Amino acid sequence: MTEVTTQKGHPKGLWVLFGTEMWERFNFYGMRALLSLFIAEALMMGDKDASIIYGGFLGLCYLTPMLGGYISDKYLGNRNCIILGGTAMAIGQLMLFLSASTFASNLPLAKSVMWVALLTIIFGNGFFKPNISSMVGSLYPKEQKSKLDSAFTIFYMGINVGATLGQFICPFFGDDKHDGIRNLGAFKWGFLAAGIAMILGTVVFFFLKNKYVVSPDGAPLGGKPNKADTPDDESAQAKFTLPNILLAGAMLVGLTLFFHYFLDGPGVSPIKAWLYPFIYGSGISLAFLIVSDKTITKIEKDRIFVLYIVCFFVIFFWAAFEQAGSSLTFIADKQTDTNILGWQMPPTMVQNFNGIFVIIFALPFSALWLWMQKRKMEPISTVKQALGLGLIALGYYIIATQVKDLGINGKVGVIWMIILYLLHTWGELCLSPIGLSLVAKLAPKRFASLLMGVWFLGNAAGYALTGTLGALLPPTTDKYIDAQKKNIDLQGILDGRKEPDGNELYTLAKMKISADIDYDKGKKNGFDFVKIFEKKDSVLTTAQLSTIQSEKLIAVGYPKFMGFTLKSLYDFFMLFVVLCGVAALLLYGLTPLIKKLMHGVR
Ligand code: GLN
Repeated sequence: MTEVTTQKGHPKGLWVLFGTEMWERFNFYGMRALLSLFIAEALMMGDKDASIIYGGFLGLCYLTPMLGGYISDKYLGNRNCIILGGTAMAIGQLMLFLSASTFASNLPLAKSVMWVALLTIIFGNGFFKPNISSMVGSLYPKEQKSKLDSAFTIFYMGINVGATLGQFICPFFGDDKHDGIRNLGAFKWGFLAAGIAMILGTVVFFFLKNKYVVSPDGAPLGGKPNKADTPDDESAQAKFTLPNILLAGAMLVGLTLFFHYFLDGPGVSPIKAWLYPFIYGSGISLAFLIVSDKTITKIEKDRIFVLYIVCFFVIFFWAAFEQAGSSLTFIADKQTDTNILGWQMPPTMVQNFNGIFVIIFALPFSALWLWMQKRKMEPISTVKQALGLGLIALGYYIIATQVKDLGINGKVGVIWMIILYLLHTWGELCLSPIGLSLVAKLAPKRFASLLMGVWFLGNAAGYALTGTLGALLPPTTDKYIDAQKKNIDLQGILDGRKEPDGNELYTLAKMKISADIDYDKGKKNGFDFVKIFEKKDSVLTTAQLSTIQSEKLIAVGYPKFMGFTLKSLYDFFMLFVVLCGVAALLLYGLTPLIKKLMHGVR
């Protein structure tokens, strides 16, 4: 028997996967920090296109793991897929390096290379992410599955060490801005740093896998699927029949169309209009396809059903959590006093507290679960996750009480944002690594990576919802001031005391102040609003302006959600309190049913 276990009781292979994933997340988050700036400024595509490309890119990165998971479970195995995915991501980063080295002399070439690079990274992430995560699970034989929550929490620390370092080092080399002027030639060094990190991660895994990523008796883990290596009766390959595959395909088309028409509706950007519905549709049709497999037993089906319940609830978690990158950073920028003992913290830095807190608290949380387990006090996974949802609701509740009486020029102290991130991070540690671990505990071996893909699809759906909910941010103080400069009484219009004329509507829409634009109706009336708003200085005729008013092509009002009107930051934060609070209670309330469906797994 090879010595593969450390004193603390975790196999050494965990540290190999920790290191591999650390470098991969370094590469992913480091590049992510530069990507939209690079597209907007160096490739000269503008802020709007950059953020649309960025959103679509992230959505696809969390959509492809189901494909990578499927191919791994059925044909290639974890090891091959990790090496394939890591290599692809490294090549993608080197292509970004190439694009960032050529944009000044050949812009069209640089743009084409960027597109191919992003597709390569999306493909690579799809192969890498579900497979490295499901390999953590396979390090632990059946009788050690109780260590999984603790193991995944340690693994999660690796994710965040990498993410935090990457978000620091790649911009350090790649974002060179002095006196308000950015040196666009520097981007390439950031992408190169990300590429080197990915090469390191892949090489680490390649050379250490045979020695450490092995079962307790020394057999290599994560090889090609094959009937012979499943002594535990979980036949090694999934069997989807052709009619079921066709049915799932038809469901995907039908659901995508359904979500396209009934959720976001036509008229929004193509990514929002098609990609988000496609993500929601893929989740449901894939879920159907897996349970239609003929080899699944009743117990397996029950356990998979628990995963589906969890995947549904985590959508709300990520939708609230990922406001960090959008509305919360925006609030940090516009309505937060970021002065700490005389030092002015850059607003974009506030969200880094998340990564830092994960690094500080991951090991204590992992130890806490083991400590509770020894005393038979450890709650089951879904109760931890309900707690995670509760913590995120609490974080929003605390900040909501702080902004309640801010008034027109008030700013919230940055300490409250830090407390919010502390609670959100604790919530994340109760929910996200525990979710990865739950997949490992509940998934039959032949579906381990595919179901990991489903878990990430739940995350992707959460990201899509993030975009929708983030757009509900009511006008912040700066908007009222901007409107006043143009002699527009925004408060009066929002409260319905004043009927806006066409000119005011158009001006507010141009200033992006809570304007709803009806693109389709606009087209019927001869307005191509997409084009009009792209040109910053376009002037409309008096007749056009009065059509806008009479046909109600542009509407200005407070954001509305499920019948509620969100008038202030307080309302906005309370939306997340209610959403996550209700989700927490519902998930907690389902505990007896979940316990039954888990058949002995905790
Ligand atoms: N930050 C974590 C990671 O990169 C979790 C992201 C997610 O699952 N949505 O793995």
